[in-house]
Amino acid sequence: MMDIDRETVVIIGAGIVGVSTAYFTVKKLAKQHSAETRPRVVLLEQCEPGCSASGKSGGFLARHWSDGTDTEQLAQFSYDLHAKLAQEHDGAERWGYRPLNTFCAEIDRIPVMPAKQHKTTHQRSESGSVVTSIEVIAPRSSNSSAVSTMEYSNPATPSTTADDNQQSHAHRSIAVPDLSSVKEVSPDTVPWLKTRLVNKLRQVGDTSSTAQVDPLKLTRSLLTEARALGLEVIRAKAIDVAETGYRPPVIEFSVNNKASGDSGQPRFPDIPENAQPTTVVESININKKKRGTSKSYIVLLDQGQDIPTDKIVVACGAWANSCLRWEAFRDVSASQIPIQGLRVHYLLARPKAPIPAQAVFAEINGTVYSGEDAIEIYPRPDGSVFICGEALDDPEMPPHNPLEPVYSKRATGRLKQIVNDVSPALTYEMIQYGLACHLPVHAKGIPVISKVPSSKGLYIAAGHGCWGILNGPATGLAVSELLVDGNCTSLDLSSFRLDRWY
Ligand SMILES: Cc1cc2nc3c(=O)[nH]c(=O)nc-3n(C[C@H](O)[C@H](O)[C@H](O)COP(=O)(O)OP(=O)(O)OC[C@H]3O[C@@H](n4cnc5c(N)ncnc54)[C@H](O)[C@@H]3O)c2cc1C
Repeated sequence: MMDIDRETVVIIGAGIVGVSTAYFTVKKLAKQHSAETRPRVVLLEQCEPGCSASGKSGGFLARHWSDGTDTEQLAQFSYDLHAKLAQEHDGAERWGYRPLNTFCAEIDRIPVMPAKQHKTTHQRSESGSVVTSIEVIAPRSSNSSAVSTMEYSNPATPSTTADDNQQSHAHRSIAVPDLSSVKEVSPDTVPWLKTRLVNKLRQVGDTSSTAQVDPLKLTRSLLTEARALGLEVIRAKAIDVAETGYRPPVIEFSVNNKASGDSGQPRFPDIPENAQPTTVVESININKKKRGTSKSYIVLLDQGQDIPTDKIVVACGAWANSCLRWEAFRDVSASQIPIQGLRVHYLLARPKAPIPAQAVFAEINGTVYSGEDAIEIYPRPDGSVFICGEALDDPEMPPHNPLEPVYSKRATGRLKQIVNDVSPALTYEMIQYGLACHLPVHAKGIPVISKVPSSKGLYIAAGHGCWGILNGPATGLAVSELLVDGNCTSLDLSSFRLDRWY
């Protein structure tokens, strides 16, 4: 039976933001309370912890790439917090935390060579793919053969689904810093790229300022730590949140209001058959559940249970604006949380030979595909390599179930093709392929980390865009201070207020 007298906090969403919030909250409470009096902290997840962006991201961390922006303090603080967490919980072993060197590469997909020394022909194969042959007439170096032919095949004609016809575009999930003042280094510094295709290579981070984690392992390790301190985890979807003291205006229906041309049934099937004109119908079932609780809110779950609670944190990533449909969030407007999913494609592979700790942001000036492409390559300590790129803007909400396949065949094929072009050895063994997930993007590029101003205990932490793994821990710490102390002293959260823009 539920103990309704203990103070309760419900965190919705077990991505890095929700899990970090849970971790720092239970840690703080454990210092202040005995196990008997400690407030209850519940983490709700509709799927698996880390099933969405937090389990499927690059896990790249940069201390200074947000300098000069609203997230400068958050990023620097969180970068240092990552190092602290790794030290405290053996992050190197448990979630692959390690500092690394970082490069930006400008890559030509066709070999760099003097003019008129190659001949390009395009042919359509039987399968419908366009095969581009580049015949090298003169050698680039004395070691090259006099004539060699390379073939690059375009992905086959895309299937005709609306999804696959959507254009993907060159996209960095991470904004690279200004390169104008960064010196070039020799292409041989990153020997696992096809160095003869590398036009320019610049080192944009070293082991003092860039690092990486395996984001799924980090999320799940922090969850394990939080559970050990009393966190409860419930696998369920929050479908509504009601405020116990609030009575929504009742709606009056007229039973004479019939849908035109139907068989005479009332338009609203919930209306009792014997209802008279202007019968008052209580439209929201949750009202019945409000009785008999001393808590401020009730979270209604998809399986029919409900959790009375004092405080609620929405940490739903790309799904954050679902809360606009929840009764208790009625004062929050859509313009205050303009968060939507940006679908980014990725793959996980195992290279033929281990790759050093070098992250690469590659920009490919294609001639085989028109336009440019950008991919990010993150070799991991376990010998795998994570590669992402090919973004599709999704104006609509991401699918209900984060595990539903959301990838576009065309974008996925294109990503693999680009990787093969710049470094075929990378995809020697494909571990995961044909994958995409939703990056929670805020229209202003700044996350919301805020209490809902007029509320007793509603909080939103979402919209972290391409830096959620970096900024997740600091966000969690900040929200834990709001929840437990009533204000945040570690960070200045004024840039992340819900009412900042509108
Ligand atoms: C390909 C890719 C590469 C990336 N690379 C990097 C990187 O290198 N560095 C970096 O810092 N960031 C990176 N990011 C960004 C980062 O992954 C995200 O910003 C971050 O994971 C967002 O975390 P979150 O907790 O806000 O959201 P999510 O991880 O999406 O978690 C939200 C959770 O809420 C759950 N949920 C939603 N609604 C409900 C509900 N009603 N009830 C219960 N549960 C619910 C979902 O199931 C989900 O598990 C990358 C992202 C992608 C997609």
